[in-house]
Amino acid sequence: MLSKKALALKPSATLTIAAKAKELLAQGHKVISLSVGEPDWDTPPTIKEAGIQAIQAGQTKYGPSNGTPALRTAIAHQTRELLNVEYSPNEVTVSTGAKFILFAALAVLVDPGDEVLIPAPYWVSYPTMVELVDGVPVIVKSDELTGYKAHAHQIEKLITPKTKILLLNSPNNPTGQMYTRQELEDIAVMLKKYPQIIVLSDDIYNQLVFTGESVAPHLLHVAPELKSRMILINSASKTYSMTGWRLGWALGPEKVIKAMSNYQSQTVSCASPFTQIATLAGLQKCGEEIAGHIKVLQSRRDLFVEALNTVPGWRSGYPQGAFYVWADIRGIVGKTWRGKKLSTCGDVAAALLEDQYVAAVPGGESGLGGYLRLSFAVHERDLTEAVKRIRMFTDSLDA
Ligand code: PMP
Ligand code: GLU
Repeated sequence: MLSKKALALKPSATLTIAAKAKELLAQGHKVISLSVGEPDWDTPPTIKEAGIQAIQAGQTKYGPSNGTPALRTAIAHQTRELLNVEYSPNEVTVSTGAKFILFAALAVLVDPGDEVLIPAPYWVSYPTMVELVDGVPVIVKSDELTGYKAHAHQIEKLITPKTKILLLNSPNNPTGQMYTRQELEDIAVMLKKYPQIIVLSDDIYNQLVFTGESVAPHLLHVAPELKSRMILINSASKTYSMTGWRLGWALGPEKVIKAMSNYQSQTVSCASPFTQIATLAGLQKCGEEIAGHIKVLQSRRDLFVEALNTVPGWRSGYPQGAFYVWADIRGIVGKTWRGKKLSTCGDVAAALLEDQYVAAVPGGESGLGGYLRLSFAVHERDLTEAVKRIRMFTDSLDA
């Protein structure tokens, strides 16, 4: 009955692990979920209030498929402030979360067989999305030596006449690593040799950075002339803790944005008008609140990384952005738990959940085994308790 595509389709690894953690919690287990990527704090009251008022005022019907002019104007304004590049509201489209916006961008850009370069470690959904639009994901591998980043020469080696898109995500999910200006300059210089390549820049974490800057270094900072070849993706989910409101956006050349908007109008119609009004309040009024959350995240990061590094076999650097620790557990993989060999980081994640009710995402789901992604967007108390449990689990393993 099912199509070939549906038969090959796996659910999102992050959402599956998060659902499993919630199920165990509902059964009464004391689960600490460091799995799903969402802030633990509530949506800011200013945003909620704007949403409630919009519902009361009857903003509950269909709206324009590319988003309201007010929100598109505010997005163009914020992007100018952050990236120093002018966009008109016609170069912006809004839809139901960055996930769908990314998918819409791929759908209007990729022909069957087109190759999409994806640096690994990557966000779990990228390769599947590319396959769903009949593209070919081409993984650019990286490791500890390259700082878990794809450098210009590594990317260039994989370029073929079929390469259509380079997907960049900085700060990165799952590693929290950020490209430096120099690394971006190198990528920009390399890209100039291949004018057919479009860059899809997933900027969803670009305001959640711990370097004191207001935004992560961006390809447009170092090479604004690439604007006509770039699609920028962003979202209210992480910055404004609005994961359940489902609101994301894209900026890019008008003809791509128009095609995406047509695609949206034939698939999801539009993002809900009251969500758009709430997001507008976030963009215009919540700067200070976000700055406060970044400070909290940074102190949680420090506490968590420091504690985790005291557990034998667990190693992590300090992520510069987003809210994930990328823990190197190559020293744990291969050990034995309750008589069972833990052959992969996926086995370690499963055993940790079963043994200690700590949920984490295996790095293998992001294209690099031997690691776990642990979110630190949770309360300090839970982070401390999680490390205690990780230690107990680790101590129980046989070599
Ligand atoms: N890109 C990255 C890198 C992500 O981590 C996520 C997950 N939230 C998304 C896109 C999608 O975000 P959303 O659909 O919630 O806007
Ligand atoms: N992007 C988040 C994560 O990586 C949310 C879950 C998802 O959409 O996959 O955990």
